Amino acid sequence: MNKVTGACLCSAVQYEVNDNFKYSGFCHCSDCRRFSGSASSAMAGIPAEEFTFLQGEESIKRFVKSENTVLAFCSNCGSSLYAEKPKRGMLHLRLGTLNEVPSLRPQFHSFVASKAEWDTICDGLPQYKGGRS
Ligand SMILES: [Zn+2]
Ligand SMILES: [Zn+2]
Repeated sequence: MNKVTGACLCSAVQYEVNDNFKYSGFCHCSDCRRFSGSASSAMAGIPAEEFTFLQGEESIKRFVKSENTVLAFCSNCGSSLYAEKPKRGMLHLRLGTLNEVPSLRPQFHSFVASKAEWDTICDGLPQYKGGRS
């Protein structure tokens, strides 16, 4: 299995993950907008056991958003690294933190019903009003 690596902005946290993403997309929900500070969050789903820290796990802080979603970020630089989906055993990895290009490219836009007014989606990917995956 090919692996891809990633890091937070300050490089304290380094990880590797199997290039075995099950789905990938841009989430435009208001929570992802706030947490990312951007129009959407580019993420890809991977089984949690396929993700490994290379260093800096002790720098990870977790924000328990709900029983379905725990947001993990670097406590030093604030980079959003992934969301844990504990009930499904998945991680939603933030694609912007990858060093390399994953095989699976983003496939869809989700929660476009709550996207920012100023955000114009310019690609031809399917758009879902609510969740997908
Ligand atoms: Zn950092
Ligand atoms: Zn979202």
